[in-house]
Amino acid sequence: MAAMILDGKALAAQVKREVASDVAASGLTPGLAVVIVGDNAASRIYVNAKKKDCEACGINSFEFALDADAGQDKLLELIAELNARPDVHGILVQLPLPAGYSEQAVIQAIAPEKDVDAFHFENVGKITTGDFIFLPCTPAGVMEILEHYGIDPAGKHCVVVGRSNIVGKPQALLLLHKHATVTICHSRTPDLAAMTRQADILVAAVGKPGLITADMVKPGAVVIDVAINRTDDGKICGDVDFDGVAAIASHITPVPGGVGPMTRAVLLRNTLKAAQM
Ligand code: NDP
Repeated sequence: MAAMILDGKALAAQVKREVASDVAASGLTPGLAVVIVGDNAASRIYVNAKKKDCEACGINSFEFALDADAGQDKLLELIAELNARPDVHGILVQLPLPAGYSEQAVIQAIAPEKDVDAFHFENVGKITTGDFIFLPCTPAGVMEILEHYGIDPAGKHCVVVGRSNIVGKPQALLLLHKHATVTICHSRTPDLAAMTRQADILVAAVGKPGLITADMVKPGAVVIDVAINRTDDGKICGDVDFDGVAAIASHITPVPGGVGPMTRAVLLRNTLKAAQM
C-alpha cells in the first residue's frame, strides 16, 4: 500500500480532548438535546455514541425518544420546548425521520443559534457567504482532516461525488472557500470516472460500496471516503475500494476510522460554541 492513512479516529480523539479542556476552562455546562423518532437501529447506535462523547467532554446530553407514530405536531412541540430551555444549547434531530414527517419543516423549527448540525436555512445561507457560526459536522470534519495533514485545497481540483444538502453541497462550498476548483458529481453525471480521474482531492459521499475503483483515481490523489455503508455480513465500508485505491492514492481515509469520528467531534465543538454564544 502506497497511500498514507488519514487517521480520523486519532484526530477526533485529539479534538475531543481539546473540547473537554475548553469546556472545563469556560465554566459552562453545554447541553445537547438529541431527538430520536422511531426505532431505527443505526440511529440508536449514533445517538448512544453521541451521548458517550458528550459525557467524556463535560457536555450534558438530553435524549428525547418519540414513537414513530408520535406525529409531526408532537415533534414540533418538543422542538419549541427545547428552543426555550436555557440548559439546552444545541438541538439535533436524528435523521432520517420515519415516513410521514417533513424533515425540512422539522429542521427549520430549530432555533438557528441551537442548530448545531447547521442545516437551518439561516445557517446554510451563512455558510454560503462564508460568514458562518456553525459548520455542518461532516464536511467540517473533512476539512479538519485535510488541514491536520497539511493538505491545502487551494488551487487544487476537488471532485465531490454526491450533492446532498448535508454532505455533498456544503462540502463543495467549504472546499471552494479554501480556494479549490470544485466539480460536483451526482447520479446524472454521465461519465463519472472521467470526472473523478481529474481530482487532486476526491471526496466520495454517495452510499454505494465499491463505487470508486482504482481506475477512477488519479495516481497521487487524496481520497476522502465519507460514506458509511453496511455490508450483508454486517461490516462497515465506504464508497471506495480501499485496497485498490490505497495502492495508487497519496492519502486515503479508512472506513471506519476516517470521517465518521470527526463528524462526532465537530458536533461537540459546535455544542460548546452554541453554549458560549
Ligand atoms: P444521499 O443519499 O442524500 O446522497 C447521495 C448522493 O449520491 C446523491 O447526490 C446522489 O445523486 C449521489 N449518487 C447516487 N448514486 C450515484 C452514482 N452512481 N454516481 C454518482 N453519484 C451518485 O446521501 P448523504 O449525502 O446523506 O450520505 C452519503 C453517504 O455518506 C452515505 O453513505 C451516508 O451514510 C454517509 N454519511 C456519513 C457521515 C459521516 O459521518 N461519515 C455523515 C453523513 C452521511 P442524486 O442527487 O442525483 O440522487
